[in-house]
Amino acid sequence: MNFFEYRDGEMYADNVRVSEVAEQVGTPFYLYSTASLTYQFNQFKDAFGDLDLLICYAVKANTNQAVIKTLGDLGAGADVVSEGELRRALAAGIPAEKIVYSGVAKTESEMIFALENEIYQFNVESEPELYQLSEVASSLDKIADITFRVNPDVDAKTHAKISTGKSENKFGVPWTKVREICARAAELSGIKLVGLDLHIGSQITELDPFEEAFTRITGLIETLREDGHDITRLDLGGGLGIPYEGDDVPPLPREYAAMVKRVVSHLGCKIIIEPGRFLVGNAGILVSKVVYVKSGEKRKFLIIDAAMNDLVRPSMYDAYHRIDPVKESDEDSTLYDIVGPVCESGDTFATNRLVTPMKKDDLLAIRSVGAYGAVMASTYNTRKLIPEVLVKADEFAVVRPRPSYDDIIGLDQSAPWLSE
Ligand SMILES: *Cc1c(COP(=O)(O)O)cnc(C)c1O
Repeated sequence: MNFFEYRDGEMYADNVRVSEVAEQVGTPFYLYSTASLTYQFNQFKDAFGDLDLLICYAVKANTNQAVIKTLGDLGAGADVVSEGELRRALAAGIPAEKIVYSGVAKTESEMIFALENEIYQFNVESEPELYQLSEVASSLDKIADITFRVNPDVDAKTHAKISTGKSENKFGVPWTKVREICARAAELSGIKLVGLDLHIGSQITELDPFEEAFTRITGLIETLREDGHDITRLDLGGGLGIPYEGDDVPPLPREYAAMVKRVVSHLGCKIIIEPGRFLVGNAGILVSKVVYVKSGEKRKFLIIDAAMNDLVRPSMYDAYHRIDPVKESDEDSTLYDIVGPVCESGDTFATNRLVTPMKKDDLLAIRSVGAYGAVMASTYNTRKLIPEVLVKADEFAVVRPRPSYDDIIGLDQSAPWLSE
């Protein structure tokens, strides 16, 4: 479903005219649709019917607290990967008993914070982490509920930088070692082993890799139960892909849910799923303005006021994003390279892209940027982080304002040996 549609030739987000937000907020900015977030969450949840399920939104995809709260109000828990994310999820009102903590390098102080807040579970990724957590929990007189993250050695068939379930990746415990490590965990005083988890990658567009991994982990749970462990939870991670290009057809939630139920229901475990991109990816656009139209020797460039520091996915993952004008036109489309102002040739959003003719000050929308967009932004080239705006029905609110230059430059401090 597309929640950024044209009406009378103008792009709308829910019932808000995109160009009106641009007039009031200034460009560039991220714009998120509450209707889209809601639709995605409910579609995902409804697909599972009456399965005993906890949906933990992987907040790293979009950590804006207004976004977390929107999903939290619909019933989502949170999957966090740092103390900072845990603090954000709590601040956004996600109850601690719906928060799972993933990540390969949880530090002692992060563990203390999470234990003091009594989160639902730790997804432990290695043996050293297990011992560290047991020690920290014991010293606080607490017992940490844990799952082990299994590395199932499955090829998720996605971009190498976001594939996480192969044996050469840094994530999880090799599936062949899980039995041994669980036996050790059972002897530790600060630990209660409650289940297993996995996460094989992101933007996965086929069901087969999921099914292969879920089948493997299901078998492991059966083995662990035979070994006498009381396994009650199974966390299947995130990773379900979304359409970026017009003809992409990733699996639908109902197909994904039907497969999950077929593979894991007989275990009777509580199922946890950690979708990130699926919930927020298509709920966001980045609105930017044409600064110059430049005719190069071979190409025509649309130079826009957004750059790779605002949205890094095209330069980092060679990601494709649809780019549409905010005002529709019936002129014939023409080929452009759409680029930002940053001093790198990698600062390119699209090459040889067909768009209707654009001129200085025209607005365009880069689509499907709700996930891994604003969260990966930086101030490279001393550019201000761009605002985030949330719309709901016919209202909009700036949910992260544009900082001032003083906010950015003022973070630096001089060193005593440098004269004033
Ligand atoms: C990133 C991540 C997710 C979410 O992945 P998506 O592809 O955005 O759904 C879920 N679980 C863990 C452990 C992650 O690292």
